[in-house]
Amino acid sequence: MRVSILKVPVDRLTLQQTMEMICRAWRENQFLHVVTANAEMLYRCRQDRALRDIIKAAELVTADGAGVVLASRILGRAVPQRVAGFDLMLACLQEAARTSLPLYFLGSRQSVLEQAAAKARQNYPGINIAGFHHGYFRKEEEKTILEEIRRLQPALLLVALGVPKQEKWIARYRKELPPCVVIGVGGSFDVLAGKARRAPLWMQRAGLEWFYRLLKEPSRLGRTAVLPLFLLAVLRQAAGERGRRQTRQ
Ligand code: UDP
Repeated sequence: MRVSILKVPVDRLTLQQTMEMICRAWRENQFLHVVTANAEMLYRCRQDRALRDIIKAAELVTADGAGVVLASRILGRAVPQRVAGFDLMLACLQEAARTSLPLYFLGSRQSVLEQAAAKARQNYPGINIAGFHHGYFRKEEEKTILEEIRRLQPALLLVALGVPKQEKWIARYRKELPPCVVIGVGGSFDVLAGKARRAPLWMQRAGLEWFYRLLKEPSRLGRTAVLPLFLLAVLRQAAGERGRRQTRQ
């Protein structure tokens, strides 16, 4: 049950169904890479073939963002809802705390990480954060980080290095990681730590979170400007698919 958007597959799942897949991976001790795909990321895949291949190989791809939800509707294979990376991360933290599964946080600045870990421990009593490492490491340090992750055997590995760095890091090491659920969570530690804020709920529901982020960080204008280009490319894909269907009939 996937919809292909600009040649990238996106799973048509609710947050609850996504959590069911994650819990099954935990139960069966399987490796599961979750990509939370937004419009910017999917549009980027047009130029970045390596990123596209990584997302294609990921076990789960969620529709993170109003742009992706709209694209799925335009293509006639709507996703049931938006599954935002931050919401998915919170749901995983809650479930991991409930079942005492060990976690590892990788990425963000050290101070942000410490505050994010403190917030997680405060909000989810009993949570087992086995370890964390900031995201400003040198290439030579990666081996040590990997060894630590292998030694701690986390069930959940959250990687916050930004797109596409986090996806490329996960893909490079997926064979060497222990069986766990790995999610690239972008700026989610910053939000958990209280350094960045999410849009008010009404804006999230109205599909305007991108606009809120733009107001807060005007330097994102270049990134947000991709949205209309993304939608245009999706409209072209939809027209192409319609044309092919008509010639077949
Ligand atoms: N980051 C990092 N190492 C890097 C580059 C970025 O740890 O080399 C972190 C950064 O501190 C931030 C997150 O990655 O916490 C990226 O946040 P952003 O909001 O840019 O994520 P995106 O929009 O790419 O999902």
